[in-house]
Amino acid sequence: MKTDNVHYTTFTGWIEPPADVAPPLGGDLTCDVAVIGGGLNGMSTALRLAERGQDVVLLEAEFCGHGSSSRNAGQLAGAPGGDLQLLNLLSGKKMPGMMRLAEHAAHHVEDLIKRLDIDCDYEPTGNTFAAVSRGQMGRVQRVAKIVRSAGGQVEVGTSEELGIPRGFVGGMREIVGGTMNPGKFTLGVRRALLDSSARIFEQTKVTDIAGQGSGVVISTPRGQLRANRVVLATNAFSGEWDITPKHLSVPIYVIEVETEPIAPERLAALGWSSRSGLVTQHNIMENYRLTSRNSIVFGVRRLERGTSFPLPLKTPDPAIVEELAKGFATRFPALANVAVERAWGGWIAITSSWLPLAGQVGDNVFYSIACNGHGLAQAPYIGSMIADLIVDGERHEDPDVVWAKKPKFPRPVMMGRLGLRLVWMLDRFNDRINGSRRNARRGAELAA
Ligand SMILES: Cc1cc2nc3c(=O)[nH]c(=O)nc-3n(C[C@H](O)[C@H](O)[C@H](O)COP(=O)(O)OP(=O)(O)OC[C@H]3O[C@@H](n4cnc5c(N)ncnc54)[C@H](O)[C@@H]3O)c2cc1C
Repeated sequence: MKTDNVHYTTFTGWIEPPADVAPPLGGDLTCDVAVIGGGLNGMSTALRLAERGQDVVLLEAEFCGHGSSSRNAGQLAGAPGGDLQLLNLLSGKKMPGMMRLAEHAAHHVEDLIKRLDIDCDYEPTGNTFAAVSRGQMGRVQRVAKIVRSAGGQVEVGTSEELGIPRGFVGGMREIVGGTMNPGKFTLGVRRALLDSSARIFEQTKVTDIAGQGSGVVISTPRGQLRANRVVLATNAFSGEWDITPKHLSVPIYVIEVETEPIAPERLAALGWSSRSGLVTQHNIMENYRLTSRNSIVFGVRRLERGTSFPLPLKTPDPAIVEELAKGFATRFPALANVAVERAWGGWIAITSSWLPLAGQVGDNVFYSIACNGHGLAQAPYIGSMIADLIVDGERHEDPDVVWAKKPKFPRPVMMGRLGLRLVWMLDRFNDRINGSRRNARRGAELAA
């Protein structure tokens, strides 16, 4: 695969930044509810509060959609993330709640796309847990059993049966969800928010939040905002103030790349008739999806730990892009001569359970700052339910499974550089064994 002419960007490959960035907060202000962070989480919270007649102000360090909300792979998941076998083993009772949350979150986003009339190339294809080996297929079958008994809607089959590329053995397709251009979706939500009664200040980085009387005071470089309640929706950047629970998550940088446009007949020859997004069953997944530009966006495979705040504005490491390209050539041998056109990455807040976390500190601080790799569906859904909780004073039952009642978290163990390297090595070791088995099978077939 060609990687000699890649356009590296510090933003995203899906969209250009908006031309109408709102001015910063330029003085002191008061409001009922302040929302910090203008990703899908914060924007959905603020939009819902505004729609329900609340006096809301949103503060965003750059522009709404600058974070991972517009950088992700655009795979709207209909099942929970993380290691579902481990989750089932450690807290099987949570599985039905997690399934319900995941499916409702995906439907919520589909409804939002319709209601706000957002053109984001959404295709309700579902996403497939795709197996690259017989070992991974065994895991997929075990996961499918768990998902079904938790009430999830999935189908299991070979690659031909599921309409996924022949480089995969088979998989489990989540019926709910699909793929979209997340940049267009995020800009659509931003547009609705700017058109709402919420007051939006972009280019406004919050530097401190402190309790004062029955409310909070939020400091920014050019002014202070006093609010009765605050919602923290700053994702990976959340380690920046004392009010945030400690060890809730760690910042991890992940990468997506996009191929050049591929001739339709070459895409058709892959057998990818379902157009379903794919995630492999490695410990650190690879993801692959088709786009409306006749390209394939793919990524992750390697995680980079952020070690100090503020997190740097980065372009992807070319060595990781090279490695992703090698993985692509293995899964899609017929496209091994296609070029990588662009590469970008973003920071995600990852929890030790790989599940989202939200909660409340005291009466007036709410947070939803760690949606891991499933925030495209779950961040907007949880955000809108926090808004409902603020207005109604009662929590909907869906976020129960992610609500941190006692916000005390152990230091994450496997998220250090060494731990991540070991997990990556384990994946590559398994890939090598599977590669040799595949070659041996091909040799035996040829000999016969
Ligand atoms: C490369 C990549 C691929 C992914 N793929 C998928 C996928 O296919 N499917 C899926 O479901 N999820 C995926 N994710 C995860 C998903 O994108 C996130 O979980 C989700 O976008 C989180 O939304 P958010 O609003 O919480 O955070 P963000 O979108 O990161 O928003 C946080 C915002 O807070 C602002 N902010 C931070 N600090 C401050 C401050 N001090 N003051 C003011 N503002 C501040 C930031 O500027 C940012 O705009 C992926 C993520 C990445 C990076």
